Amino acid sequence: ATATTASSSAQPLRILLRVRPFLPSEAASFCVPCVSLVDGYPGSEVTVKLKDQYTSRSEHYNLDAFFGQENSVSEIFDREVSPLIPGMFEGTNATVFAYGATGSGKTFTMQGTEDCPGLIPLAVSAILARCTGTWCSMDISYYEVYMERCYDLLEPKAKEIMALEDKDGNLQLKGLCWTPVRSMEEFEELYSIGVQRRKVAHTGLNDVSSRSHAVFSVRVSTSVVKGKLNLIDLAGSEDNRRTMNQGIRLQESSKINQSLLALSNVISALNKNERKIPYRGSKLTRILQDSLGGSSCAVMIACLNPAEYQEAVNTICLAAPSR
Ligand code: ADP
Ligand code: MG
Repeated sequence: ATATTASSSAQPLRILLRVRPFLPSEAASFCVPCVSLVDGYPGSEVTVKLKDQYTSRSEHYNLDAFFGQENSVSEIFDREVSPLIPGMFEGTNATVFAYGATGSGKTFTMQGTEDCPGLIPLAVSAILARCTGTWCSMDISYYEVYMERCYDLLEPKAKEIMALEDKDGNLQLKGLCWTPVRSMEEFEELYSIGVQRRKVAHTGLNDVSSRSHAVFSVRVSTSVVKGKLNLIDLAGSEDNRRTMNQGIRLQESSKINQSLLALSNVISALNKNERKIPYRGSKLTRILQDSLGGSSCAVMIACLNPAEYQEAVNTICLAAPSR
């Protein structure tokens, strides 16, 4: 089947591959990316090939779409995220994940840079454009899940937020700060505070940002319904067993592995249309229960570094477990 922009909004779970360009330092020693498109067009259902340039080992995988080195973040937005937006105004929740090892381009894809906005600013801008007038309002929240604890990134002291179970068994984040946003200027001011806080939170631990999940949510409210879009920059999925972590790092990596595995199990169960979805495996999947499965749409972006074959294999296997 050929995926079109219109049908992608109806598909409950899409798994995409995103291969970032070589960095200047890599381009010198690698001329062939470890992943290539074998069959299909970049934005539609595809078969890709992963190949180790040293051993010539190779595997094929089928995915919903492929975005290669020459594709921009705005193409990913137009094809995969923009179609989720109309549903929000009818009360449908959606979640977009960036998944992959540290250095694979997750933050570039979600957050972007000053010159090249990521999916978060692109989504906020598109939602604001639909949300004019008094019939509808928009607010945002931004928090981090680190070691199974949640910290508000828009709140002055990055305080811990308690996750409490409501009567339906969903986890609700009590005290999470939702801030109304009416313009891109307001958004940029607020979001840059969160981005900065993400960099410097948890004093004494360096680069916590690659070992925490950052959840950005936009909510639209009309007099009739509320709809939410979560855009999540997941913790690095590198094989933590190989890095000989000790102490706090070991605890961190076991929490990361546990929560990414729990997410992978949820994705796999959704993929197979199973009746029982194992949301209870981690804090993150419990929090996302209202936005994953059911009538919600999810998009998993598996980010790959074209210079890392084994890492790419691990990423695809976890992101697309049943394919
Ligand atoms: P991660 O968040 O997965 O650790 P980053 O998003 O920080 O990875 O990306 C790693 C490096 O690759 C950064 O220097 C980033 O600017 C660069 N990069 C990632 N994706 C792209 C892209 N599509 N185009 C250009 N540079 C990219
Ligand atoms: Mg990052």
